[in-house]
Amino acid sequence: MSENKHHLETRIIRTRVPSSVHNEQVTPIYVSSGFNFESAEMARAVYAGEEPGYVYSRWKNPNNDELISRMCILEGAEAGLTAASGMAAMYTLLTGLLSSGDHVVAARALFSATNQIIDNTLPRWGISHSYFEGPEPETWEAAFTPQTRLCIVESPSNPALSLVDIGRLAELCRARDVVLVVDNTFATPIVQQPLALGAHLVVHSTTKFLDGQGRTIGGVIVGEEPLIEELFNFSRSTGPTLSSFNAWILSLSLELLPLRMERHCANALALATRLQERSDIANVLYPYLPSHPQYALARKQMKAGGGIVTFEIAGGVERGRRFLNALQMCDIVTNLGDARTIATHPASTTHSKLSEEQRLAAGITAGLVRVSVGLEHVDDIIDDIEQALDESI
Ligand code: PLP
Repeated sequence: MSENKHHLETRIIRTRVPSSVHNEQVTPIYVSSGFNFESAEMARAVYAGEEPGYVYSRWKNPNNDELISRMCILEGAEAGLTAASGMAAMYTLLTGLLSSGDHVVAARALFSATNQIIDNTLPRWGISHSYFEGPEPETWEAAFTPQTRLCIVESPSNPALSLVDIGRLAELCRARDVVLVVDNTFATPIVQQPLALGAHLVVHSTTKFLDGQGRTIGGVIVGEEPLIEELFNFSRSTGPTLSSFNAWILSLSLELLPLRMERHCANALALATRLQERSDIANVLYPYLPSHPQYALARKQMKAGGGIVTFEIAGGVERGRRFLNALQMCDIVTNLGDARTIATHPASTTHSKLSEEQRLAAGITAGLVRVSVGLEHVDDIIDDIEQALDESI
């Protein structure tokens, strides 16, 4: 493992599980369901958690451990846990920490599958919720009840890029003994570290920027040790395990995350700045554009604007469709955070299960397009998007 005296970029690359007898330079993929013990006594001690070691890959395996160590460095966390997808992580978090009678407070603008769990699944087990509206933390206080145990937000949100003042919300939550969870998928820890701002737990869909090349589905939760331990005990029995192969890919991906995010953010800012100059674009949203309604907050809690730009095409749903069809280089994929630039139309895909009222409450209008800005040359990205805009008029 890498020492603390090194910089973050170095520690990510140099942190690994101990190499095996072959002294391989890169951690191998450990494809073993179970692990041998030297003796019955050792089996008992490892099983009981008295000695370190691996027992069974549903609980823990070296590839997952390496990924967790690297994620803890990136997020400044005490401990972590992996899961088979971002939603498996979210589901583990919500069902692992909450009990019947508890209440959840959530930002309205959440990834739609998270809304589905909160709206449709948790109430079946007697777990109620309230959404807070608007950007001002003062108005959120009304959403808390004496039964509130957990508060969950996404900042920036998917896809409308609205922000939550994590520091102020953390103060509200900590004063009430409420666990604050931040979905940091859009920002990544290179851009924003919610734990340093006061959150208790951070959850990620690793499927996005953390993978960075669209190969794996995965999730991770990091944060305060006692909460992670509670969640680990729950997930060890319920089994939403991330495969060794996916953990191996993700761990290697993290080595390049600081470099990749620097370029994603630079390309995204250049695209957003260019789009803002066009008269046929109604509204360009990017946290690091001075015109973003929460620009001051973005500068306060984010080190850069992230890799996602959204904009509203004048001409609504039809123009949005024509725009996507006119793209020559960018992909039309329901994913984000990839080396390849991706355009998505949330109203007809990712958020189509929400009612129009729910969509509008989350800032998703009919002509909203989300661009996950990739790592191609910035001029090629801008050229393709501009020619598709011209073509779609
Ligand atoms: N959280 C956010 C912000 C997302 O954008 C997504 C997926 O798009 C998820 C969670 C769910 O992650 P996964 O698709 O890995 O289950």
